[in-house]
Formats: sequence, structure tokens, C-alpha cells
Amino acid sequence: MELTDRHGRKHRSLRISIVDKCDLRCTYCMPEDQHFLKREELMTRKEISTIAKLFVERHGITKIRITGGEPLVRPDAGDIVRDMAQLGVSLGLTTNAMTLDRHLDGLIAAGLKNLNISLDTFDAERFKKIARRDGFDRVWASILLALEKGLRVKVNMVVMRGVNEDEILRFVEFTREHDVHVRFIEFMPFAGNHWGRERVYTYAEMLGHIGSVHTVEKLIDDPHSTAKAYRVPGWPGTFAVISTVTEPFCGDCDRLRLTAEGKMRNCLFTREETDLLSALRRGEDIAPLIEANVLAKHAMLGGLPQFKPEKEEEVLHDLSERPMVSIGG
Ligand code: SAM
Ligand code: SF4
Repeated sequence: MELTDRHGRKHRSLRISIVDKCDLRCTYCMPEDQHFLKREELMTRKEISTIAKLFVERHGITKIRITGGEPLVRPDAGDIVRDMAQLGVSLGLTTNAMTLDRHLDGLIAAGLKNLNISLDTFDAERFKKIARRDGFDRVWASILLALEKGLRVKVNMVVMRGVNEDEILRFVEFTREHDVHVRFIEFMPFAGNHWGRERVYTYAEMLGHIGSVHTVEKLIDDPHSTAKAYRVPGWPGTFAVISTVTEPFCGDCDRLRLTAEGKMRNCLFTREETDLLSALRRGEDIAPLIEANVLAKHAMLGGLPQFKPEKEEEVLHDLSERPMVSIGG
């Protein structure tokens, strides 16, 4: 049965977090005192495969993205990618690329074609401040390697006022140098990430800033896309803005999520979860649980009030207790 919510939206895309640990500790994603799941609490490779298969074969999911935490810290990440590739879906992986160089050939052999890589700055010192770990050189080298090996690469930059908004043009310049897709993401509020409206560098500001230097052309967005895409005419790469805070794009959302401990979420911002893994371990049929979870999906932002200034207190109060690192972006 197709997964349709009570607003008539069909869901075809699934993000699977395979681990909640990470080898970076980005300030906007991971609280200082983050506790991680124990090994036995994580879905095993077999359980991931069983659940994913059900989503694909019984519920018409056509797109899977593996994420985390940092998916590549899990020793069997390559095997999981191979399992997912065999499901015949459009497959992607989101990574911080800290160890991507050693995994790349294995991932390509496993059938991976799409990579989302996070990079918020070109400055090594700034990287250390944002990620609370050293790593710029490794990440940058891996991005270039992935491009060289012919993967479709999207680079995600979380733009924060007073932190890295002065580098937006450098990231746009990257699309002149390479056939890469850069995504500027508005800083979103999650548990423990010290979000404040004043730290959000908005979609309008980003576009104004880029437009003051370059002529930009709007591209046609995929109907389910979360991003508004552009390019500088004649340049090989493209860029986009993900404007969750100032212009949420929930209208055509077709995304579902599974946390590393097998809890299903129908929205990044929801506070409601369905424990698929425990049911699976008890030997129950989880298909009805999946269908009920999708049906209950809110029209917008998991039921949060919009991120309007006058609603800010309410939003911060109503946020899910999960930080981004344990949701899986
Ligand atoms: N570790 C991997 C990585 O960093 O790409 C995958 C997991 S990470 C949670 C997925 C994506 O979420 C990253 O691109 C990250 O930049 C983004 N992200 C995390 N916290 C965010 C926030 N507060 N606002 C916007 N994007 C955020
Ligand atoms: Fe780790 Fe990715 Fe979160 Fe950074 S954004 S702490 S790399 S999960």
C-alpha cells in the first residue's frame, strides 16, 4: 500500500540514520553533552535491510538516503549501502567526509552514485570552531576526490550569521570551478543547538548577496524538492537555498525518516515517533504501524507553529527533544 498522509501527499522518500555517533561535533547539530545509543539499541544491518525492503516493496518507496550521525563511523556502512543498492532505489549518502577517502572506492563498487557532503567553511581555523574538531583538509580533499571519481556531489553549507555568511560567494565560486551542486541551508532550530532568529541568515539575504555580484538564473525545482535552485549562467555547477525557517516547503513533502534505533518520524520537526524496531523484534507486522505513522503527518513542520518572530518562544518550547545528530538529517 502506498504511503499517503491525511492531506493526500504520497511519500516515496526515506532517510535512514544508521548510527547516532559522529566524528565531528558541529555546534549547530550536536549538544556538548550528547549521549549516544548503545550498540544493541542500534538497528543491525539485517534489521535495516528488512525494514528498508518493506518500505520499498510494500510501500512504494523509491528513494533512500543513508545518514546519521556520521554514517561512515559505522564499520558495516559499506555493506549497508550495498544492501540498499540491491533494492533498486535511487540511493544517496550524507556524510561529513572525514573518512570518505578510504570508503569511496567501496561505496562506488557498492552502487552509490549520489553523495551529500557537509562543508560550512573554507577556512581551517573556522572549521575547527564550527565542528569542534580539526578536519578541513581531509574533507576538502575528499570532496575533490568524489568529484574526480564522477559521483554526483551536493555540498551542504549551514549558513549562520556572524559565523560563515561572509563565505557564501566563495561557495558560489566553487560552482564555477566544478560541476557541483552547493546547497545553502538556513540555520534550523533543534534541541541543544543554541538557535536564535538573529543567527539565521535568510534565503532573501543570501539571494540578495549573491545577486549583488552575479547574474543568477532560477532553475526549475523538482516538485518534492526542499531547495530552490539557481545557477550563474554558463557555469558548470548549480546552487540552491533550503529555506526551512523563512519559507518552509512542506506543501509537497514526500519524506519519511527512520532513526538509528528504528523509530519512524514523518517530519524533521515532529515530536511523534513510531517504534518500528521494537515491534519488529517482537515479531509483529510493522506495515500497519508505518501506514498509521504517515497518515498522522501534520500539514506543516511536524505541527510546530511557523518560525515567525512572534511564535519563536512557542517553537523553541515545542521542539522535539532530539538534537539533529540523533534525528538524521
Ligand atoms: N554527518 C553527516 C553530515 O554532516 O553530512 C550526516 C548527518 S547531518 C545531521 C545531515 C545534514 O544536516 C548536514 O548537512 C548538516 O549540515 C545538516 N544540519 C545539521 N544541523 C543543522 C541545523 N541546525 N540547521 C540546518 N542544517 C543542519
Ligand atoms: Fe556530525 Fe553531521 Fe552533525 Fe556535524 S552535522 S555533528 S558531522 S552529524
